[in-house]
Amino acid sequence: MARKFTFNYSQNFDSVKRLKKNIRFVVYHYTGMKSEKDAVNRLIKPENKVSAHFFIKFNGDIICMVPERYIAWHAGKSHWKNFNMINKNSIGIEISNQGHNFKYTEFNSKQVKSIIELSKYLKKKYNIKKNCFLGHSDIAPDRKIDPGEKFPWEKLSKNKIGIWPNLRKKKLLSLRGKKLNDKEKLLFFKKLSQFGYRSSSKHLKNFNTFKKKLCKVFQMRFRQELVNGKVDQECLLILKKLIFSIKINS
Ligand SMILES: [Zn+2]
Repeated sequence: MARKFTFNYSQNFDSVKRLKKNIRFVVYHYTGMKSEKDAVNRLIKPENKVSAHFFIKFNGDIICMVPERYIAWHAGKSHWKNFNMINKNSIGIEISNQGHNFKYTEFNSKQVKSIIELSKYLKKKYNIKKNCFLGHSDIAPDRKIDPGEKFPWEKLSKNKIGIWPNLRKKKLLSLRGKKLNDKEKLLFFKKLSQFGYRSSSKHLKNFNTFKKKLCKVFQMRFRQELVNGKVDQECLLILKKLIFSIKINS
């Protein structure tokens, strides 16, 4: 890889080595802190009990923090399809960005290049499927909003990393804001869980709040121009297209 690699090991990981075949997902995060130096320290100091395998700096350099075969502590309580507690099955990548609480900016071109190179390397090494490149918010929609609506999913998909709904812009815009009836709304949430999102209401006190969060998380990923937490015809079409593209690719 062309990028500069450095090593700054974290003490926060499980000491038992995992099997290569158990690595199935790549999870992207943003650091959400004002200072990059503080973000690095947070991930390596034992008292914080958090870490990631890789850290992509603002200048595009990559820091290796936990060897890939060990379980880093980046995802927390998380679900995707039938998987729970996704740390054990994933590689976590933290990307330097102040996040929504401070100054949420575009991921810069050096960072994007590093994200793509690193993801390609992991994809090949662990045979990671297209739909197994995920954001932290995808696997913990009730708690997390990183890496957010500025994450370059579309660019990644052009490099065969992750998936993206390739639909005509004109078509999408014509459906934006158009309401769904109750049956279609139900269908949207049903399809979200078919796609991988965990939308079970079992343990939730307020399912409506959760649905809004889930919808926002979906929009941050696939309808980045408008994130309002309201399901509309555009969102439904995108989701149908995504499910269709997974089916024909698998
Ligand atoms: Zn995160």
